Amino acid sequence: MIDIYTLSLEALSKKLAEWGEPRFRAKQLWTWLYDKRAASFDDMTDLPKPLRDRLSRELTLGSLTVEMEQIAKDGTIKRLYRLLDGQLIESVLMEYDDDRRTACISTQAGCAMGCVFCATGQMGFGRHLTADEIFEQAVVFARDLEKRGERLSNVVLMGMGEPFHNYEASLAAVRRLIHDLGIGARHITISTVGLVPMIRRFADEGLQVKLAISLHAATDTERSALLPINRRYPLADLLSACRSYVQTTGRRISFEWTLIHGSNDTPEQAHALGALLSGLMCHVNVIPLNPTAGFEGDPSAPARINAFIDILASYDVPATVRIRRGIDIDAGCGQLKAKVLKRGNSVSGE
Ligand code: SAH
Ligand code: SF4
Repeated sequence: MIDIYTLSLEALSKKLAEWGEPRFRAKQLWTWLYDKRAASFDDMTDLPKPLRDRLSRELTLGSLTVEMEQIAKDGTIKRLYRLLDGQLIESVLMEYDDDRRTACISTQAGCAMGCVFCATGQMGFGRHLTADEIFEQAVVFARDLEKRGERLSNVVLMGMGEPFHNYEASLAAVRRLIHDLGIGARHITISTVGLVPMIRRFADEGLQVKLAISLHAATDTERSALLPINRRYPLADLLSACRSYVQTTGRRISFEWTLIHGSNDTPEQAHALGALLSGLMCHVNVIPLNPTAGFEGDPSAPARINAFIDILASYDVPATVRIRRGIDIDAGCGQLKAKVLKRGNSVSGE
């Protein structure tokens, strides 16, 4: 069976022409897929019944199977999907009080970067996702939202995996989000651990997509201890690529900073960060650590978070605390899969 979401409009037109359908049919079907976001072929009510039946027999609407779902008190939905080859990935849908509906999607099953506090990093690398597998995670949420009369407004590539380690597929998926699903480029964010050559390449793509860099420490010793990739691309190289990005694109860059009590939430780190970013068109998102099984660390207390932000302000570096969504449902990246794997292991060990 072919997954219909993997077909381009051209490929779909060709198939429907082979089936003897009139020329307008492909566009009509395309509108059902990506504008009206139908959840089944039977919902496509203005298509002739025999065509709907044939579509149901020969094509599937997506390739992701829901393995597990959790809904948090704040409305955050977390899904664990099984891919066709058995790999597990996570996506999260976050609702905000304004009309924003944000899908957080994965770009790899697992991750090769090994950041010590990250549940995905702790499980290692599975494989790269295809562009379609990345794209479909957003389509599925868009479809679910449509059912209750809401629109998916934002997409962040901040789930499992490192988007710039799977550059081609991630960018192809982003292009489909913009062109097929109609998500505004400015409403899409790619987050990277700091793969310098890809940051430079991304700056030249001519896309309005937002870029976020996971910084987490402002000195090489501290950063290498948390993010092993820093040994390959140390801070001086990373910041130089970030400055070029801002210069080339004219766009602000975001920095992510997961605050770990007693580690990177010290006044020394705050001053080092202020000095590092001073004068750069940027914004710092501060996120208290989500504790994970494989890392002994605690989130910073509110007083320390405020002190950290105040020091940055003295360097004119704007920073805000990101609200943790779905905290009661293991909504941190990779945490649900880690839990399921652990449970699986203990079952097989019994
Ligand atoms: N690989 C990319 C995108 C996915 S991770 C990247 O690292 O940027 C998305 C964000 O979640 C990153 O900023 C990452 O550092 C952060 N993160 C990972 N584990 C976390 C945890 N346990 N608590 C808080 N933030 C975490
Ligand atoms: Fe990979 Fe990002 Fe997790 Fe690091 S923080 S291990 S780059 S997913």
